[in-house]
Amino acid sequence: MVTTIGREIIRAKLPDKYKHYCDAPLTKGAVESLCTEMAKDDPDRYIDVLQDLNNIGEAVVSTYGRDTALSLDDLRPGKQVRAYNQQIKAIIKAILNNDSLTEEQKEQRIREIGYKYADKIQNVVFKDSDDRKTSLAMQIASGSRGNKAQLMQMMFGNWLMKDALDRDIPYLMADGYSDGASPMGNWMSASSARRGRYLQQFATGQAGYLGKQVTNVTHDTNISMEDCGTTDTGVPFPADSTKNVGAVLLRPFHKHPAGSIVTDEMVAEAEDGEEMILRSPITCKAKHGICAKCNGLSENGRFPAIGEYVPLNAARTYVEKITQAGISSKHGASRTGKMEASKQADPDGEGQPTGFRSVERMFIAQENFPGGALLSQTDGMVTGIRKAPQGGHYITVGTQTLYAPADREPIVKIGDKVEAGDTLTDGVPNPDEVTDLRGLGRGRKYFVSKLDDLLRKNGWGVDRRNLEAFAKGMINKVRISDENGYGNYLPGDVVNYDDIASTWQPHEDAIRTTPDKAVNKYLEAPVLYYNIGTRITPSVAKELDKYQFKDVLVSDHEPPFKSEFMRPAESLQNDKHWLPRFNGERLQDSLFDAARRNLSDPYDSPSFVDKIITAPYKQ
Ligand SMILES: [Zn+2]
Repeated sequence: MVTTIGREIIRAKLPDKYKHYCDAPLTKGAVESLCTEMAKDDPDRYIDVLQDLNNIGEAVVSTYGRDTALSLDDLRPGKQVRAYNQQIKAIIKAILNNDSLTEEQKEQRIREIGYKYADKIQNVVFKDSDDRKTSLAMQIASGSRGNKAQLMQMMFGNWLMKDALDRDIPYLMADGYSDGASPMGNWMSASSARRGRYLQQFATGQAGYLGKQVTNVTHDTNISMEDCGTTDTGVPFPADSTKNVGAVLLRPFHKHPAGSIVTDEMVAEAEDGEEMILRSPITCKAKHGICAKCNGLSENGRFPAIGEYVPLNAARTYVEKITQAGISSKHGASRTGKMEASKQADPDGEGQPTGFRSVERMFIAQENFPGGALLSQTDGMVTGIRKAPQGGHYITVGTQTLYAPADREPIVKIGDKVEAGDTLTDGVPNPDEVTDLRGLGRGRKYFVSKLDDLLRKNGWGVDRRNLEAFAKGMINKVRISDENGYGNYLPGDVVNYDDIASTWQPHEDAIRTTPDKAVNKYLEAPVLYYNIGTRITPSVAKELDKYQFKDVLVSDHEPPFKSEFMRPAESLQNDKHWLPRFNGERLQDSLFDAARRNLSDPYDSPSFVDKIITAPYKQ
């Protein structure tokens, strides 16, 4: 086969095993699989090889810069593109000159042409440049710079654009920038370009802001001890999930005793529908942070060391992915109109936000939750479902009537028995509401599984166990609700649940009984993933029974606190020490509040804020 000097120079630098990659063009896909293969099989040489390739690139650019630069011909559309452009313009003209169409119909036709030809034009333009072996085409094929859409803009025109309100503009720009845009094309594309610029700045800022909040909320959750010794708190997971590998069994699984570390082989033993009950960071009983056993093995196959900030690292991995996605979202499919053309049914129902927004809502958890499900506020029976005149439905549970907006589909029927927090419609439950109605333990469990689901859906998947560690730090606040306060806390105080749980004294009249006899009583000791104070409902009792928790410690006393989902931004403002509050927001309020409450700071707390501030003074 014909080769080139460039190809042979690269071949010379590759280890023998990989030289065959130079037998074919090094396209984006080929470079990616070459790099992945080397990184996996030959990690030691990987860096050297990449450095060698980089050196070749630099040498070529500095020696032959002038010759390898773009030539004028690279920027000119070829004959095929010009012919195609004329053809398309004729189609557009025919629509505009068709007197039998109304203005609206014309606009609609124009948009349809826009969607129909977007991909075709990109391919024709790319093929034309590729056939002529232009540098631009090679750059795009190698994945080093540019993309087909940008090439189309230069050679053919911006084609279909969006206005500031994200609507497709019924004007198809078919003048390439390399020939000079027409005044009309220029005018139209300017508005679209402004929108793109704005989205980029805005998305980066928002993703960065969320990232900061999300990492901050983990500030004092680290590995605090070897083993909290829990024997009755954990989370059931499908036994065949490879995500279980590295976690510690709370209950025996097949012949493996409690305390075993889950291996690939154990996961392979799982039968359909079987579950494993695992120790988890969200059910760890450590007074602060997480114990190594509940955390499970790290990626390196060892238990994390005391002091390690596992949740912080977890947050960083996915925040980075989200931020990247936020930045690149401006390039999205909007230009081709694909989004409108192929909207797929979302299993969560209509009106679900996508990308960054789908994840962000889980942290901000505002009252008006985008794509949110309607949850029952009480236990009771569904006694009415009727269409609302303004669209949507009225759903009545017991005596309480709730409104489900038009984009939500009821999933219950009259006569169904529901509990507070059960979903009445499709959609994604707001984690704030779930935590409020069902308690901290179930709030954490739900938050982990939904966040895991949404991150995966967007291709930002991370280790589920890392998310569990994160959720332990993030959802850990309760508000004192007893009018007499509790301990040294006043009514309304926001307190870490861990602090209450670790010093909790069950009421004297608390009894141990079977789950079914405990219905409508309150937990006096945590069990499975239910926190202290959880009211035992029939479904909780059923769940405990299913996992063979034979007896539970309960009483008739309502707990003196209510679980609270606190947005990351508010979490530091409410920290129990004053120093970490510096890393939060609304400093004036939060520091005055700290002074008023006479808050202290141990200066060597597990918080990384303490460590950053006090480190220079500890010599
Ligand atoms: Zn533990």
